[in-house]
Parts: sequence; C-alpha cells; structure tokens
Amino acid sequence: MASATDESALVESESAESGSAESDLAKPAGATRTEKIRRIKADVSHTALVRRARRMNRILAELYPDAHSELDFTSPLELLVATILSAQCTDKRVNQVTPILFSRYHTAADYASASREDVEKIIVSTGFFRAKTASLIGLGQALCERFGGEVPNRLRDLITLPGVGRKTANVVLGNAFGVPGITVDTHLSRLARRFGWTTADDPDKIEQEVGALFPRSEWTILSHRMIWHGRRVCHARRPACGACDLAGLCPAYGEGPIDPVIAARLVKPGPFS
Ligand code: SF4
Repeated sequence: MASATDESALVESESAESGSAESDLAKPAGATRTEKIRRIKADVSHTALVRRARRMNRILAELYPDAHSELDFTSPLELLVATILSAQCTDKRVNQVTPILFSRYHTAADYASASREDVEKIIVSTGFFRAKTASLIGLGQALCERFGGEVPNRLRDLITLPGVGRKTANVVLGNAFGVPGITVDTHLSRLARRFGWTTADDPDKIEQEVGALFPRSEWTILSHRMIWHGRRVCHARRPACGACDLAGLCPAYGEGPIDPVIAARLVKPGPFS
C-alpha cells in the first residue's frame, strides 16, 4: 500500500513546484499576471497528476506482474473474433465458446461464408448472439473484400470493420500487433474516473486523457493492469478500499469499505479466464 510518507512527498513536491512557479511571476512578460498565474497553476497540477498516475501504475505493475488479455487466441483474427464476442459477456464465457468456433472457422473466408444458424448456435451463450453473428459474417466479408483476408494493423482500417470500435481495435493492435493502445472498457473507464485521471464519460475522451499521462509504450500493459485491478479489487459496486494497495494515492478511497477485514472479503482473486 502506498505510504503516508509517499503522500507527504507528493504534497511537498507540489508545494516546491508552486514556490518556483511564483518566483517566475516576478516579471510577467507578454501575458498578464493573472493569465500567467492560471497557466502555471494548470502546469503544476498537471505535473502532479502525471506523477501520481505514474506512481499508481508502478504499484499496479508490482501487483500484477503477469497482467495480460484474459481472452484465449492464437492469431489476430481469433483475437478480433473473441473481442467482438466479449461485448456484454465475460472473458471466461467467451473462452468456453471459442475453441469450438475456432475449430470450425479458421479464416476470414470461413466467416464470410458461414451459416448464420451454425454460428448462432455456437455463440448463443455469449449473449446478443444474433448481432454478434451478423458482425462475424460481415467481418469475414469485409476482410476478404478490402484487406485480402488479413486483419489490418492500423486503427483507421480496423474501425471500419463490422462490430469493431476503438476499444476492440486497440485490443487487437496492442495484443496481436504490438501497437500501443488504451483499451477503454467498463473497468478502465471506472478506475480512470476514480483515480482522478479524467472526469469524462466519453470513451474517446477517456482514451485521450489517460494516454496523455503515460508514454505510449505503457498504454497496452497499463490497460491490462487497470482491468485486472477493476476485476479483482476496485469493483463497480463495493470496491475493496480497505484491502487496496492504491489507497494512499486514490482520491476515491472510501468509496467502498475501508475496514480491512470486510474489504478483504470483497477481493476476487481470479483468474477470470
Ligand atoms: S482505494 Fe478504493 S476506489 Fe481507489 S482504487 Fe482502491 S478500491 Fe478503487
């Protein structure tokens, strides 16, 4: 758990920066003094936010050294299909269904010419199976018609495919192609707001604001760590604040029980796949 000393250091560091900022104000040039004060305060608070966010990420890295996608896949196409199926469904359920699906459908052409009834029967337990079947068949057709049957490795191409939004595209880019991306799912959105990294509800805005706090190279693994923490500790209802290693740095500490014994009972150890 982050210590009170860490907290004080952060506060001291912010005060120190504020002090040096004030000295810069002695001779305002160009901008008015008020504008300059406003700009410097914004810079200082952004610097503090970045510093705190990166410290939280380091704690998450220690907590979840093995964080990874909990969907099973062996190729970009399989990951794309599994991610489409994971909408409104658990990864565990998707992983129960995909072995049968992947044993029957190997290529984009297989999906393009699939029997709707057959796919629906296989994926029915993932929910929204009619819409998901339509997406998978449409996906296969689009890949064959426009991308030579291959999954493209660019965001702007991926998001043109049926059933593929920025979230799915970033999952595929980050995990199948090694292209950094922030996966804004329900867990990452909730945690980013609780951490004070964003106040937005719009996924694109969340992606942009969280991304701005970290180097690109951290984006994919940060997404996994946040999703893992959201599933295990920082639940939507009753987050386990009293058992959370981020408590000393989290502005939302206290949103869930802070009693260590009660909180410990809320922690779900996983795995979720
Ligand atoms: S302190 Fe509570 S709200 Fe903050 S990350 Fe931990 S569990 Fe979530």
